[in-house]
Amino acid sequence: MKETNSLKQILVEKETDKMKNQLKKVIVVAMKSLWFPPIFEDGYGKNEQYDEGDYFQKADGALLRGRLVFYSGEFCDQTVNGNVDFSMEVFLTGEGELLKFYTIRESRYCQDCQETHTRLHRMVAKDQSLMEDELDAILNNITVDLRNAS
Ligand SMILES: [Zn+2]
Repeated sequence: MKETNSLKQILVEKETDKMKNQLKKVIVVAMKSLWFPPIFEDGYGKNEQYDEGDYFQKADGALLRGRLVFYSGEFCDQTVNGNVDFSMEVFLTGEGELLKFYTIRESRYCQDCQETHTRLHRMVAKDQSLMEDELDAILNNITVDLRNAS
């Protein structure tokens, strides 16, 4: 019984290694063929389209660029003016790193504009660890992005 369990464990680890290697390869391809826009730290806009705000900067002063490759809604509720939601997001940066953020979005309907104003605030997560199923989803999402880009 014990042996069967350890064999199973080895097979699971092999699958994980395979997936992680696959992810590394896909990231190399993505870096060459995908566009990485600057990432908003604070963004303002209408109807989930952010057109102004402040971008994250790297230590050298250049803008931090990336693409959203994973999204997980953690909390969502209504406020007296609209909605608020809290999510975990992972971006693939222009350097080929996976960077995890916590993001707060706020939307409120504006009578003057007759439109919904939205704003977001993104924070780099202290714990950058990603679970296996999250990595698996990231691999899938980047693969789909690549397919759509080609
Ligand atoms: Zn307005």
